[in-house]
Amino acid sequence: MSEAQKTEIIEMLRGLQPPDGKGDVVSRGMVSDIFIADGKAFFSLSVASDEAERFEPFRREIEQRVAGIAGIASAMVALTAERAGGGAGRTAPPPRPPVRPAAPGGRPAPASGAPPAAARPAAGKPGVPGIDKIVAVASGKGGVGKSTTAVNLALAFAALGLKVGILDADIYGPSVPRLLDIRDKPKSAGGRTMLPLEAYGLKAMSMGFLVDEETPMIWRGPMVMSALTQMLREVEWGTLDLLVVDMPPGTGDAQLTMAQQVPLAGAVIVSTPQDLALLDARKGLAMFRKVDVPVLGIVENMSYFVCPNCGTSHDVFGHGGARREADRLGVPFLGEVPLDMRIRETSDAGSPIVACEPEGPHAKVFADIAAKTLAGIEGLNHAAAPRIVFE
Ligand code: ADP
Repeated sequence: MSEAQKTEIIEMLRGLQPPDGKGDVVSRGMVSDIFIADGKAFFSLSVASDEAERFEPFRREIEQRVAGIAGIASAMVALTAERAGGGAGRTAPPPRPPVRPAAPGGRPAPASGAPPAAARPAAGKPGVPGIDKIVAVASGKGGVGKSTTAVNLALAFAALGLKVGILDADIYGPSVPRLLDIRDKPKSAGGRTMLPLEAYGLKAMSMGFLVDEETPMIWRGPMVMSALTQMLREVEWGTLDLLVVDMPPGTGDAQLTMAQQVPLAGAVIVSTPQDLALLDARKGLAMFRKVDVPVLGIVENMSYFVCPNCGTSHDVFGHGGARREADRLGVPFLGEVPLDMRIRETSDAGSPIVACEPEGPHAKVFADIAAKTLAGIEGLNHAAAPRIVFE
């Protein structure tokens, strides 16, 4: 059954014209093994790293076409970078322009009343009363499972007995309400502050509550800082041991400003094994380094694929890249989360895997990541923050 579908996928791919116009991806050997399980198809396309952007619409088109094949419900197709001569990811991340909290086009600075971000030394950031530690979960690009990791990590911290909150600062696609199945809006406490919502023992606030989805992206940027300040300082978090901040993906000015303004104890970077994502992850590392926020480590998400039919692991996406990269950069490697439909299904259903299967293997993976992250924070309390050295 699935052999016939694989053949159909390959035939379909042979008939598609890739965006570089150089002949079909099958003949060029760009397609990985194809796995089909539970009606879901998984494979990757290997492209040169500088072609990734051009191939992105093509990748999406393939996902749609594969999902249209009889017997296949959905597809996950990833772009994997071809390694360039000395290995991908050797180039240093490009320098970011200086951060200005004012919007492009001379709009006034956000209403947070904060002084210009660049003028504020990282060490001088005021803490948030009641919150002991704030940890950012970040990724160099979208779609790597940053929010899924942030939520499950927060739940894993809570399972260790900590009082935990999650702040969804992802202005581009706030997903915490969906991940935690929160449908209410936060209530105001006496008109001045907001009460966080609660789910699975976590206190939660989301940019989605404050920034209307209809608001065009271009206007969201300037709102970020004031909304973020509100979510941090005008929410009645109560006493928390740890606040997990789900950062917006990427390393643009909005992210840099956030990393600069929020008194972060450290950052966890989520990456997929693909070199492309790792290149982006390096930018994430550089960004936090720039604002003196210690990187607590890298999590490799969608690390390997456990076939629900035969139970064996497959390295669809080139597993192990994040561990190697972490070693090379001298940052801790926090763990590998497999690509597993249970993780996706539970996230989409609003009951994250750590909450709904607390004794399962995935909860164990997140518990280990949480423990290593805490150990990292503890270590920082006793030693100077490790410096990340870039070649
Ligand atoms: P990001 O925050 O990086 O944009 P999300 O956490 O929203 O990414 O995840 C993107 C999609 O991938 C979601 O549909 C999510 O359910 C799915 N996903 C994330 N991690 C995994 C995983 N380990 N296994 C399977 N699906 C995953």
